[in-house]
Amino acid sequence: MRRVAVIEKGIPGGQIATTDLIENYPGFPEGISGPELMQKFEEQAKKFGAEFHNLFEVREIQVNGFEKTIVAADGREIKSKSIIIATGQNPRRLNVPGESEFIGRGVSFCATCDGAFFKGKKVAVVGGGNSAIQEALYLTRFADSVTVIHRRNQLRADKILQERAFKNEKINFLWDSIVVEIKGNQLLSSLVVKNVKTGEEKEIAVDGLFIYIGYEPNTGFLKGLVELDENGYILTDDKLQTSVPGIFACGDVRKNHLKQVSVAVGEGALAATSAEHYLEENENK
Ligand code: NAP
Repeated sequence: MRRVAVIEKGIPGGQIATTDLIENYPGFPEGISGPELMQKFEEQAKKFGAEFHNLFEVREIQVNGFEKTIVAADGREIKSKSIIIATGQNPRRLNVPGESEFIGRGVSFCATCDGAFFKGKKVAVVGGGNSAIQEALYLTRFADSVTVIHRRNQLRADKILQERAFKNEKINFLWDSIVVEIKGNQLLSSLVVKNVKTGEEKEIAVDGLFIYIGYEPNTGFLKGLVELDENGYILTDDKLQTSVPGIFACGDVRKNHLKQVSVAVGEGALAATSAEHYLEENENK
């Protein structure tokens, strides 16, 4: 039997653990909350013997042929012969004045975590993809109004989400617009928004800003170890092996065409099987 260590910088679950409702994962026709689904994944993995190492932030992976060492930021080490990288991605930032200053004081990247603080208030969401629209809909449970600020005049989100958002009376749209500054005193109080077609700038009063403009892969710790694409996502072959033998990648951190739980789970199964084959082929050499 193989020993399997699951290494996690915080607690398991990643982005899914901060998602309110997952409606497109098979087996849950009514949908399931992200934290609940992640808890079930963890329970199932533990049942089959996986050992969880939480609060273990990987600083680097050292490769010496068949022997590999995973080194934590605090110096702890785990030795392994095969590694599957499933570090996902992090929310992208706007990089405008006020953004860093107001994180936790009005600026948020997680509606599920912070939405309830905005009961009866006005919030804005930046972005036009599935995340922005799904979270804008979620925020209508708490906020009195939700303004979606999108840089084009057409959403990227799936049609079903678009239709729900257009029907929702609490949601309004600022098209062809970008946020150029986030203002406030102790707490965020307004945004400077620029129309990209006319160049006109105006200030809108809001209490919260939720930023959903895509993601960046968590591959910084790999530091040139495996081959990445131009956006930093890991390149693999069809067995999900990276450019380093014995190191595999799956899920959102990999260059793939669909970032969804069902895809990540399927890729996880393939990466695990490939890792098993790699061990069988190499351990008696
Ligand atoms: P996304 O699909 O990449 O959309 C990002 C949105 O932000 C786009 O509308 C983009 O505008 C806008 N944007 C990007 N950079 C910007 C900037 N600097 N300033 C202003 N706007 C900017 O990202 P996502 O919505 O987070 O979704 C990521 C992946 O997860 C997608 O594959 C998505 O389908 C998937 N996902 C799926 C579900 C689901 O299946 N229910 C839910 C959530 C996410 P443009 O449209 O002009 O490019």
